[in-house]
Amino acid sequence: MSRFFSARYADLTPYTPGEQPQNRAYIKLNTNESPFPPSPGVAEAVETESRRLALYSDPECVKLRAKMAEIYRLDPDQIVMTNGSDEVLNFAFMAFADEAHPLAFADITYGFYPVFAQLNRIPFTEIPLKSDFSLDPADYIGIHKTVVLANPNAPTGLALPLSEVEQIVKSNPDNVVIVDEAYVDFGGESAVTLLDRYENLLVVGTFSKSRSMAGARLGFGFGSKKLIADLNTLRYSTNPYNINRLTDAAGQAALAENDYYMTNCRTIIENRAWTTEQLRSLGFRVLDSKTNFVFAESPQIDGGALYGKLKEKGILVRHFDKERLKSFNRITIGTKEQMQTLIETIKEILGG
Ligand SMILES: *Cc1c(COP(=O)(O)O)cnc(C)c1O
Repeated sequence: MSRFFSARYADLTPYTPGEQPQNRAYIKLNTNESPFPPSPGVAEAVETESRRLALYSDPECVKLRAKMAEIYRLDPDQIVMTNGSDEVLNFAFMAFADEAHPLAFADITYGFYPVFAQLNRIPFTEIPLKSDFSLDPADYIGIHKTVVLANPNAPTGLALPLSEVEQIVKSNPDNVVIVDEAYVDFGGESAVTLLDRYENLLVVGTFSKSRSMAGARLGFGFGSKKLIADLNTLRYSTNPYNINRLTDAAGQAALAENDYYMTNCRTIIENRAWTTEQLRSLGFRVLDSKTNFVFAESPQIDGGALYGKLKEKGILVRHFDKERLKSFNRITIGTKEQMQTLIETIKEILGG
């Protein structure tokens, strides 16, 4: 730390992203990316748009929001586009949480929530998941806090039924409830259908997982027009050009070929079922995932040891040191071939 670093941030513990190795070609099952490339129209759109890079991007993302509005059956003014969903989460914390509206989220969930809370000096409560890693909605009913739910959750992969999400939203009318749906396209139930009825609901999503665009950084928030206007106040106070031209063009092209991505999601769901079954037959405990990853532990090998041995053999998975998680690994679902290699490699490791 330099002697110039503001005391305001001296005790900040930044987020630790999953490894992005640049040296060796791993089978990369550690950061929940899609194994499939973007649809063909995306490369073409980016190439064409690159000729216009001398000009600033559209701060309102008019065309992109119009396409989003059509697909999600919303008014364009109910949509804000952001630099990854991490950005909309940060804006939402800034906008809707403070000393009077402290945050509440699970003790085991997306690691960025406590970081954004600390960054913005917002008090937060981490509510323990049950021993089977499920979330008890009763813990959030009428809690009078700004609630953040990842649904489906990470790294557990477990999903909450929509009726339970609704109870949480309904019982906290004076606070915003943020539902982070990064993984919803892999089998969860989206809260988008509740937006008409609840002015305190903010739904957050991303193109990083189901739409093969993690590297483009494109996320979004859906809410009432007033909530979205508040988020735009912060966006225009931070970076009005948060969506660059290439990402805007890529997003529009992706939405024009939306069926391609929804087909890929079905493939991932099939590969997830196959992988779960294989791991269970090898004695693993695998949580019931509605995401593009599985969370699994083996009674035969420690989580950290399995992570290390897989890495030696060219397969990267995600391991967390936290006490309740350390016997597990989070394994992204890739192509069938990648999952076959994973299972063969795990057999070798357990056999030897
Ligand atoms: C991956 C992820 C995000 C953030 O993704 P972006 O790449 O910033 O859009 C947000 N929430 C959860 C739960 C995630 O797993």
